[in-house]
Amino acid sequence: MILFENVTKTYPRTTRPALDDVNLEIPRGEFAFVVGTSGSGKSTLMQLVMKEQDATRGRILVAGRDLDRLPERKVPALRREIGCVFQDFRLLPNKTVFQNVAYALQVLGSSRARIRQTVPETLELVGLAGMEKRLPHQLSGGEQQRVAIARAFVNRPPILLADEPTGNLDPDTSLGIVQLLDRINRTGTTVVMATHDTVTVNAMRKRVIRLDRGVLVSDMEAGDYTTGS
Ligand code: ADP
Ligand code: ADP
Repeated sequence: MILFENVTKTYPRTTRPALDDVNLEIPRGEFAFVVGTSGSGKSTLMQLVMKEQDATRGRILVAGRDLDRLPERKVPALRREIGCVFQDFRLLPNKTVFQNVAYALQVLGSSRARIRQTVPETLELVGLAGMEKRLPHQLSGGEQQRVAIARAFVNRPPILLADEPTGNLDPDTSLGIVQLLDRINRTGTTVVMATHDTVTVNAMRKRVIRLDRGVLVSDMEAGDYTTGS
């Protein structure tokens, strides 16, 4: 589903690569954590998958596409296959929960009937049934992140990327969010979560890919946060 071959990313006017000769294969249906301290290259890796950044060297395949050869006009189709969740939720503040999730389908041209069917189903899946009419500021942080996950998943993308999704949440709430991502993974969606949240990583016993200053230093099945470090 995601393949990195000798991928290096060096940002303009920097000396050290943000990612340095990274090799990585994440098969369809996997749940993988990407861990490492701040500045280790986790966000860069996620942005490369989305083609928000281009690799300086190497080859990246995502959902069967070679990103280096993907013309600009085909980038939107790539992004429709990737749901994204961020630390800061990025909800529309003046839209209700329902509208925030529905918006993701509206931009894809979904029918009203489909939206009326799919949005409540997805809110139920993330544990927010009954909260359709709330505004984001009327929700706790954990609930806001559930809305963001519902929005990312409402069109059932094959890949879900989550960049520090628990970074603003307390430990109990964080565990709930990771368990929700696990539930989404069980529907068949490939989930990649960047985090430095030791407790949630250790609770899940999933694949752990560790970056250190842009270098992939370990990659363990059923790992814990400190494996290989
Ligand atoms: P992480 O997500 O693990 O904190 P990042 O991928 O954000 O790591 O950053 C990796 C390295 O790349 C850091 O040294 C960071 O300063 C640098 N970097 C990230 N984005 C940019 C950018 N747009 N321009 C220049 N340097 C960047
Ligand atoms: P937390 O302390 O967990 O961050 P809050 O104290 O903000 O959460 O909210 C607790 C519960 O009350 C949540 O279910 C939230 O949705 C609800 N809530 C908070 N503010 C409002 C509001 N202005 N109107 C309706 N419900 C609210």
